[in-house]
Amino acid sequence: MTADSRTTTDSRTTFDPATHPFWHGFAPMGFVLGQAGPDDMWVRGEGSWLVDAQGNRCLDARSGIGNMNLGYSREDIAQAMYQQARELPFVCTMRWEQAVPVAVDYARALVDAAPAGITRVRFTHTGSAAVESAVLMARGYQRNVGRRKKRTVVALDGSFHGSTLTAMATGGQRILHRFFGPMPEGFAHVPLPAMASCPRCRDGASTAEATCGSGVLAALRELGPDQLAAVFVEPVKGVSGVPLPDHFLRELREFCTAHGILLVFDEVFTGFGRTGAMFAAELSGVTPDVMCFAKAITAGYAALGAVAVTDEVYGAFDISSTSAFSHASSTDAHPVACAAALAALRAYQEEDVVAQGRAMGVRLAHALSEALSGSPRLGAVRQLGAYVGLDLLDDEGRPAGMPMKRHLEARCRRAGVLIDYTPDTVMLIPPLTTPPQDVGFLAATLAEVVLAFRESDVDESTLRPATLRGHR
Ligand code: PMP
Repeated sequence: MTADSRTTTDSRTTFDPATHPFWHGFAPMGFVLGQAGPDDMWVRGEGSWLVDAQGNRCLDARSGIGNMNLGYSREDIAQAMYQQARELPFVCTMRWEQAVPVAVDYARALVDAAPAGITRVRFTHTGSAAVESAVLMARGYQRNVGRRKKRTVVALDGSFHGSTLTAMATGGQRILHRFFGPMPEGFAHVPLPAMASCPRCRDGASTAEATCGSGVLAALRELGPDQLAAVFVEPVKGVSGVPLPDHFLRELREFCTAHGILLVFDEVFTGFGRTGAMFAAELSGVTPDVMCFAKAITAGYAALGAVAVTDEVYGAFDISSTSAFSHASSTDAHPVACAAALAALRAYQEEDVVAQGRAMGVRLAHALSEALSGSPRLGAVRQLGAYVGLDLLDDEGRPAGMPMKRHLEARCRRAGVLIDYTPDTVMLIPPLTTPPQDVGFLAATLAEVVLAFRESDVDESTLRPATLRGHR
């Protein structure tokens, strides 16, 4: 018996799609269970690789889902978690007790790493809970400083800010609003900056009066700035890897400051090195009032989220008997998760992981551009830090649709690499620490799959079960 089969005996021998008890995620379970069987379960991670129950290896160019920025099998993080779990696995942070030392140590390390001006941190357990906490905090802040009419929270059309009802209402994904609605009141969405027609984005025209931000600011004015509590943005859009222009973020910052609106950066996806800086806020130099983190905060080794704020925001609470921020969940600031986050942050900093991620991204983009050069399938290879977006074209030269990308993903997985895709792009986000030979394997394998692709291949039945096998 191998170690792999020993660890998975129960779930493998009892596998039956009809009675399978585990219900997860966004994908329909029928599809998940029909697509792959018990042998396809991932049972181990090693560096940038996942290993299934049969010993097949797949390079994880999704980093879980943007979590595993340091890769799998990190002994330092596992040890830190183990020690904390043995010493003191839980302390309640909802009552009068002091927090456990590791939570305070991590809070200090996080604000030291964050952009200047960010000084306090509240922990949650997920990114959605961090967004939810930031919404409630923004309303509490406005009430406490006497601006009681400011209740509305604004975000960009099409944005994703999480999966709880409040986080979903914050996000601008109308399909989710329709499906799970009615949504709570007090949320509004404004158009994305019109970058394609912006003279400053196009040729840097610094004197242009109308920029991509003009429409956004006009929409905010129309909503009535005296009603607005906060504006949420992702400084780099996760689904495309496209940064919001610096000049737009500066204009938005000025607008929010002028009208007493909190500017919130949702860095749940971008935080911890993905975009080539520790935080995407560093790219534009714009400091928000509030930042939300999760995912790679623990490098994927535990569940933790965080809301980090300025002294100005913190200082609006606890000034009277009715101005506390009385909102928390019992597992917030979980000590084992904080231990994982502290060990992960040490690794990010001491191993210069952000620079490693940038070099990895450059190498991957270069190898893909070379391997696909001249192919009519190649739209563009875009790279920002450790995020590479591969824009592909169909036979008519139009942006590749979701069925084509789904097909490519399944083929890549059979060939030994896990890729991700969104309506915007094929998203390549391997661990930042992925070594050059693995980057080479990823680029060569993906390019081979893309070059061999024929549109007539897109046949849902080829995405069926037993054909899904990794790379030995
Ligand atoms: N905000 C953004 C930008 C995200 O990408 C996500 C997760 N995809 C969330 C919030 C929600 O985070 P979580 O899945 O940890 O709840």
